[in-house]
Amino acid sequence: MKYISFIFFLLPFIFFQVVHAAPAVSVIPETVMQGEPFMVQIEGAALLDVKKMSFEGKRLNVFSYGGKPSALVGIDLNKKPGTYDLNMVLASGETLTKHVIIGAREKVEAPLGIPAKLGGNTPAARKSVVLSLARENAALNGLRSIKKALWSEKFDFPVANPIVTDAYGYSRKTGEYSIAHKGTDFRAKEGTPVLAMNRGIVRFARETRIYGKTVAVDHGHGVMTLYMHLSKTKVNVGELVAKGQELGLSGKTGYAEAPHLHLSVKIGGVSIDPMKFMELF
Ligand SMILES: [Zn+2]
Repeated sequence: MKYISFIFFLLPFIFFQVVHAAPAVSVIPETVMQGEPFMVQIEGAALLDVKKMSFEGKRLNVFSYGGKPSALVGIDLNKKPGTYDLNMVLASGETLTKHVIIGAREKVEAPLGIPAKLGGNTPAARKSVVLSLARENAALNGLRSIKKALWSEKFDFPVANPIVTDAYGYSRKTGEYSIAHKGTDFRAKEGTPVLAMNRGIVRFARETRIYGKTVAVDHGHGVMTLYMHLSKTKVNVGELVAKGQELGLSGKTGYAEAPHLHLSVKIGGVSIDPMKFMELF
């Protein structure tokens, strides 16, 4: 009898040992290329069990997705291919390290002229376009992002019938400059409704020289979707928008020759391939 009660006394501890298996870290997708995003998920741990997660020493925002502690990372198009460390510190003091391999993306170059409305294909116009682009990118990267996930459902495409007309990642050579296409272009005739890909807060809604009429939506934790070359914007800065809400109408304002929607997705200020981002959810 004595032994039996002893075993019953031990049972919760034995059970705890089985349930409390070592947390496992997964990186999705397994192979990450330059310009692509990846998601980190921890199995067998709760959000409160994760004290800190960092990639290359840079702290990541950890949130709960699908009931697992998760984080999103964007790899710059020009990031040097190689093996990088992902580190985690658990509340128990335990540390976990995972190696993430970044592969090289095939470099594709295409010629591109400057539209007449931006000064035509002259050295002065090219220089001015590159300067404007740098200024506009700095302004967009300076937008703040709320420290919580405003989205809980998957992301949807920004147009009802998403047909890609120009992919992410190649470089357009304009004279001595090379401008990378860091977004996805969708077919959209002038006036097509452009929809919020998920719930978020509008951080930018105005016209710039290169991107034209632009709306930027902050989904939290540094995840931002940007809708460019619009003919009309229908939302204001600070507004909370629902997934699928009309943000504006497509057009060809700014550096665009014909109507289309240029979609850019940023994670922590890094523009990644929007189509790869969609595959994560
Ligand atoms: Zn584009």
